[in-house]
Amino acid sequence: MPRTAQITPAIQSAMNDQIRREFASAYQYLAMAAWLETHRMPGAAAWMRVQAQEETAHGMRFFEFIVDRNGTVELEGIAKPERSWASVLAAVEAAYRNEQDVTASIMRLYDLAMQEKDHVSHAFLQSFLTEQIEEEKTASRLVEMFEMAADSGHALLVLDKELGQRGGAK
Ligand code: MG
Repeated sequence: MPRTAQITPAIQSAMNDQIRREFASAYQYLAMAAWLETHRMPGAAAWMRVQAQEETAHGMRFFEFIVDRNGTVELEGIAKPERSWASVLAAVEAAYRNEQDVTASIMRLYDLAMQEKDHVSHAFLQSFLTEQIEEEKTASRLVEMFEMAADSGHALLVLDKELGQRGGAK
């Protein structure tokens, strides 16, 4: 007999997949950090490290949610991330596309929670939808800034220094 507030198999499976997505994002941001380090952009690399930590924290929130709902966490495989880009702009554009994909996946989860009449998951996912608005805004701002700085070594240096101010890593 299912225990009180137990998660449904469909939600459990989708949330396990979301754990994979969040950790895959963390891994991808970490790959960007590594690439930026080899391209003399330590500030942007530090920024990517902080982002990787945030994605890990998101993955852990889904992990704990499944546990709290008496579900079973199943960790799936994470694909090898991209490891090089044509330019810093290309890297941050890839980060932006990744955030858009994450938003789409959280929206699908949200739809599923509504279908399953799972109000607890529904409420839990609301904070992630709000979070994704911020993530997309930040990533698109990053793209804009690198577009503006693209042709100027000086502007890139200033931008790299500014990105390095983001606290939390290194
Ligand atoms: Mg995330």
